[in-house]
Amino acid sequence: MAQGRSVLVTGGNRGIGLAIAQAFLAEGDQVAVTSRSGDGPEGALTVKADVTNMESIDQAFEQIEQVHGPVEVLVNNAGMNNDQLLMRMSEEDFEQVLDTNLTGSFRALKRATRGMIRLKKGRVIFISSVVGLYGSPGQINYAASKAGLVGMARSLTRELGSRNITANVVAPGYINTEMTQALDEDLQKQYKQAIPAGRFADPDEVANVVRWLASDEASYISGAVIPVDGGLGMGH
Ligand code: NDP
Repeated sequence: MAQGRSVLVTGGNRGIGLAIAQAFLAEGDQVAVTSRSGDGPEGALTVKADVTNMESIDQAFEQIEQVHGPVEVLVNNAGMNNDQLLMRMSEEDFEQVLDTNLTGSFRALKRATRGMIRLKKGRVIFISSVVGLYGSPGQINYAASKAGLVGMARSLTRELGSRNITANVVAPGYINTEMTQALDEDLQKQYKQAIPAGRFADPDEVANVVRWLASDEASYISGAVIPVDGGLGMGH
């Protein structure tokens, strides 16, 4: 049997990243996941890496390339939030979130495209958020980091689009993971009222879109922002 593609999902040990890793494993791909804890789903190569550290990313790629070969599909999923109203948000609160979500994606991207150029093919998918383009009070750092991913994907498309490399953004709305379980119940209720679908999504509903964007069926889609938000952000 032919070996599957070499796929890397950053932050693939829980939540949306875990569902994405499992979706690729089900396709028969060779899946690697990174996280700071070093956990991951059965069947995946799990590698400890901190996206805020280039050396750590470099070491992770070396390990992955030795076992699975150059990464052909990169899913930049690792992310965090640290919500504060602007008045209370320190420069450090801002920079920490940008460093993880935006610069962290840049670090993995920079390292992955080396191999993609040699392979003469590649797929990059950035996990952004509805709030990147919709905005959200208390999330100036998070929304800025997620909006930045759109510029990154579109610039990458213009830079490497002719080399059979596509770059797209998936913008989830509210998904049932630890990140949203941390919201208080009244707030969850309020959000559900604002979502046309009337509910939060399961991580699989995001994972299916990511898997499809990396498939042959999506070969001519690049620089796109695909919302998976039950209609919450319509218009961006
Ligand atoms: P979780 O908090 O459940 O998971 C976050 C993942 O990122 C974990 O695997 C975590 O692993 C990893 N991670 C965080 N910081 C770092 C770091 N510095 N280096 C390496 N890995 C790191 O989040 P979700 O599954 O909810 O979110 C996944 C992505 O989807 C994020 O980018 C998030 O912003 C985005 N998103 C989530 C939404 C939601 O409703 N849940 C909505 C829209 C977007 P570890 O802690 O072990 O390092």
